[in-house]
Amino acid sequence: MAIIVVGSIGIDFVAVSDHLPELGETVLSTQLHIGPGGKGFNQAVGARRLGGNARFVTKTGRGDLGRQARAFLAGEGLLGDLALESDIDNQVALIFVDANGANMISVTPGASADLLPADLEGLELTAEDILLAQLEIPPETVAAAAARAAAVGCRFVLNPAPAATLSPELLAMVDIATPNETELALLTGMPTATTSQVVAAAEQLIARGVGEVVATVGAKGAIHVTPASSSSHPALLVDAVDTTGAGDAFNAGLVVGLSKGMDLPAAIDLGCRAGAYCVTRLGVLDGLPTAAELDEFVQRN
Ligand code: ADP
Repeated sequence: MAIIVVGSIGIDFVAVSDHLPELGETVLSTQLHIGPGGKGFNQAVGARRLGGNARFVTKTGRGDLGRQARAFLAGEGLLGDLALESDIDNQVALIFVDANGANMISVTPGASADLLPADLEGLELTAEDILLAQLEIPPETVAAAAARAAAVGCRFVLNPAPAATLSPELLAMVDIATPNETELALLTGMPTATTSQVVAAAEQLIARGVGEVVATVGAKGAIHVTPASSSSHPALLVDAVDTTGAGDAFNAGLVVGLSKGMDLPAAIDLGCRAGAYCVTRLGVLDGLPTAAELDEFVQRN
């Protein structure tokens, strides 16, 4: 079973300084890291490292940044025929991080905004595949991906991040939605501070046509809501050093589990293990484990 991830690849510029700049302030950074990012890229890498047969539909930009993005894709084995090229600039994220790990992020979508419904026309899918998308590409492209999945009868998993509202038509095509608490609150206009509030909000999404909801709730784990039931999946107890990318690792684990034939509850547990691994590492890419690294981590924790 193939996992097809449809999403963004960005170049992240991460400036680390003692404190975050105030409005109008210039700070001197102590370090600058330049590397690949984008939710689509992170999730595709995560799925591949965990042993999933993952392919990545994405769009890189022109010039040096686009070439760097393609080199990063090649380095992860993701530079296949589904990695398209745009003649506008690559997606870029400017990220400020302070000494405590707090951050401010601005993403310029660039070529990710140029990944269009027509780009999915040649995409070959079978009913056994799993399609995974996020919201760093245009909503009409996400909707086109969902429609392709519906047409062949394969599962469509939507990680609705970054937070945005969605059209009723798109929601009705989502088999599994994986919002965090913030995203779930924005999608539904409902509070999501407690477990019962998360369940009520997830039920609202189901009433609007989503098949099942897997809400991630950070150190509390994940809550799985179906039309008939809800259940909690506890997180592993770990010392978190950097929670960036936990959701990406979680989604990667979830789709790899499904692609290996696990039922959704077992796939959620794999997602929780991958999310816990991620928060024990600095940065996102170092927090995406291979299956062997994840096994070893779980045995130690
Ligand atoms: P996001 O990064 O999208 O905000 P979450 O913070 O909800 O997503 O994290 C995704 C998953 O990662 C959670 O469901 C949980 O299983 C795991 N996770 C996140 N934070 C921690 C933590 N502090 N300890 C253990 N697991 C965590």
